[in-house]
Amino acid sequence: MNPFLQKLAVDHHLEYWLGALDPAWSVRDLRARVLEVRDETHDVKTFVLRANRRWKGHRAGQFVGVDVEIDGVRVRRCYSIASAPAGRTFSITVKRAGRVSTWLHTNLKRGDVLRLAPPDGAFVLPSPAPDKLLLLSGGSGITPVMSILRDLANRGSATDVVFLHGARSEADVIFAAELATLARRHAWLRLVVTHVPLTADLLSALVPDYAARTTFMCGPQPMMDGLAPAWSGIEDRLTLERYAAAVVPPTTAHAKVRLTMATSETSFEIDNSESLLQQIEKAGHRPKSGCRMGICHSCVCRKKSGVIEDLTTGAVSGEPDEDIRICVSRARTDVTLSL
Ligand SMILES: Cc1cc2nc3c(=O)[nH]c(=O)nc-3n(C[C@H](O)[C@H](O)[C@H](O)COP(=O)(O)OP(=O)(O)OC[C@H]3O[C@@H](n4cnc5c(N)ncnc54)[C@H](O)[C@@H]3O)c2cc1C
Repeated sequence: MNPFLQKLAVDHHLEYWLGALDPAWSVRDLRARVLEVRDETHDVKTFVLRANRRWKGHRAGQFVGVDVEIDGVRVRRCYSIASAPAGRTFSITVKRAGRVSTWLHTNLKRGDVLRLAPPDGAFVLPSPAPDKLLLLSGGSGITPVMSILRDLANRGSATDVVFLHGARSEADVIFAAELATLARRHAWLRLVVTHVPLTADLLSALVPDYAARTTFMCGPQPMMDGLAPAWSGIEDRLTLERYAAAVVPPTTAHAKVRLTMATSETSFEIDNSESLLQQIEKAGHRPKSGCRMGICHSCVCRKKSGVIEDLTTGAVSGEPDEDIRICVSRARTDVTLSL
């Protein structure tokens, strides 16, 4: 047998037998076992996970892709790693919102095994870490900045950090007790928690020297949209993490166009005001997808013909045989995909 095919066959058998002995073992896939499930608030849970040997570590502020199977369909969502880097054990903290997060809250228990996509993302501190930092978050957007804060506390090298967090009420503050303890313990940390919407004026009042700080911000879209202009002219001091795609308004009026899925020889009319993914799902198909905001690339497929518009940048492209992310592309004309 060809040595390559032989190796594939051996890997396949190994995968099968290891998986049968322990679902967290895999020579191919990144998987993690749930060590603990913790309630953080009334609608937020932390899942402490231990990854198998495929884990190559993460940097504070990065996210993982979490794959789950719901009603026979594999779906992926991204979750920021909330813990500081520490071997193969890490945690994600999930707010109950829609399909996947509710499934995780309801079904995931100690001992279960999750399939993961490796850590990714550029929401990480530069090295060396800046002297003056502002970690700014709203709601469940606290998770990646908490990872950064925990990492700074572990390393003991921080000099001046303001942690500004907005939550609807005291009961909604995730990690409240730990934040209070860290602020008591470390003179370099100033903690500000507010329960009124964070606006540019409030930011200036609470952190008057924010413009002199390197800022990492993650929160609900309206909060980030409202605050971002405060960095106009000093955009390089601000790093953002988005949980949802920032969509630019479509550049043409919406219309009905025809979508052809070449591989499955299916063709149907779609409304081009929504992403190709949304329209394909509405037609009853389940193409591979992940974060639904263009970052995880799970939904990439080949466009054979047609003009599409990138919903995040407004860029229009009519190139044939081009790989596109269907979750953030809308059709401008009839489109044929290699689905
Ligand atoms: C880089 C990155 C990091 C992220 N990190 C985190 C994190 O640390 N923690 C976290 O909680 N999330 C995080 N997210 C968001 C997460 O990936 C999911 O988008 C989120 O959990 C919602 O997915 P879902 O399947 O539960 O909701 P979907 O079913 O996809 O619904 C999306 C949205 O529709 C609305 N919706 C849908 N169904 C309902 C319903 N029944 N009731 C009310 N509203 C509804 C909600 O607003 C919901 O958020 C992150 C996203 C990205 C891209």
